[in-house]
Amino acid sequence: MTRLIGWVVPGGIILAAIVALILGLGPEDFTAMLGETYPWVAFGIVLLLGAFFHRSRVVLFVFGLSAMLLVFSQATADLTGFFLVGTLLVVSMGILALSQDRGVFSTGGLLQMMVFLVVFLFGMLLLELAPGDLASFLALMPLPPGWSEWSGLPQPVLLAFAFAVPTTLVAAFFREGPVERGIFWSLLILALALRYATDPGLVGVCLTGAGLALGLSVMATSYAMAYKDDLTGLPARRALLRDLNGISGEYAAAMVDVDHFKKFNDRYGHDVGDQVLRMVAARLSKVPGRGRVYRYGGEEFTVLFPGKNIQKALPHLKEVRRSVEDATFTLRSWRRPRKKPVDPSAWRGAGKQKPKLLSVTISIGVADSSGRDPSPETVLKKADQALYRAKEGGRNQVSK
Ligand code: GH3
Ligand code: MG
Ligand code: MG
Repeated sequence: MTRLIGWVVPGGIILAAIVALILGLGPEDFTAMLGETYPWVAFGIVLLLGAFFHRSRVVLFVFGLSAMLLVFSQATADLTGFFLVGTLLVVSMGILALSQDRGVFSTGGLLQMMVFLVVFLFGMLLLELAPGDLASFLALMPLPPGWSEWSGLPQPVLLAFAFAVPTTLVAAFFREGPVERGIFWSLLILALALRYATDPGLVGVCLTGAGLALGLSVMATSYAMAYKDDLTGLPARRALLRDLNGISGEYAAAMVDVDHFKKFNDRYGHDVGDQVLRMVAARLSKVPGRGRVYRYGGEEFTVLFPGKNIQKALPHLKEVRRSVEDATFTLRSWRRPRKKPVDPSAWRGAGKQKPKLLSVTISIGVADSSGRDPSPETVLKKADQALYRAKEGGRNQVSK
């Protein structure tokens, strides 16, 4: 069943909808109507994207945008409802900036949706019960008029933005996800929709634009994820192949492999192995000489030096080899205190044991594009052969 759904959604559904329209099952004059419905089409697409990629906040944002459009298309002269829904959406997104995206139907996602719905239903109820009072609420001026005049927004609306925009900006800064940035930009676009609320065409454009910014950010995240290694945060092999395809001129490539890593794993466990891989990745990415580091796979890494030959890359590789050798790593276990003890000898958490300092070494093989065949496949193969020589030569060394 899930496999079937995976096949049919979304391509099959869209195809079916179009066929239905061709067969005359849809509303009449559909194409003429499209002028007004394009925001809805965009919202639908972004909604599917958000749900597909477990971006609960994107889904909620699109719900909010839809509510705004709905209220806007029904109100003719009185924009109170439009401003109210917009403000509620802005405030909700400011609050949700504190949480993270979940699956739409996961517990966390449903909880977020509940919060969102309650806020909105509350707003709608207020609107129904006391429209006059809401209008006067929007006219409230707690700040000197000069503070809000530039924005062209009512002060309560501006205050909602003053809360939500910095919150999402901070979230975008610390989490560095495209979706966080997407929400930030969409809020700014939303501000324009409210600022130019008297221009129906512009409101449609702004709301659609806010939705598209969100949808594209979801796609950017999946793209970025495909090119990034989860464990180490380094670019993944896919990124290496992409960059090698685009490389021009001279370059050197080095294959890096952790020494005796199987033994290390066997002795300390896979989790400790993972932590060591992260440490090695961190050291490698500090390689001088503008080398670009990738996780090739497993305990193997690749360093690319565009514009350099073997001779120029060698000293940098030797330095990074030494840097990994010098790095020590404290064995993390459940016995290890969360904070590093000031004096490790005073720590008795592990009985008589002292915290264990571990270290690993790496072997490196380097090749460049100066040979007869400068193709990436050949250069990588030659680097791999050099790596083999480094292993044969006793490991913990750089070979060319
Ligand atoms: P050599 O010095 O010849 O490279 O010896 P080695 O033991 O490092 O070589 P081998 O290729 O036989 O073993 C690689 C090991 O790396 C096997 C596997 O247990 C471990 N490994 C590969 N990927 C990961 C990973 O993502 N996490 C952890 N913890 N271990 C990994
Ligand atoms: Mg290996
Ligand atoms: Mg190895």
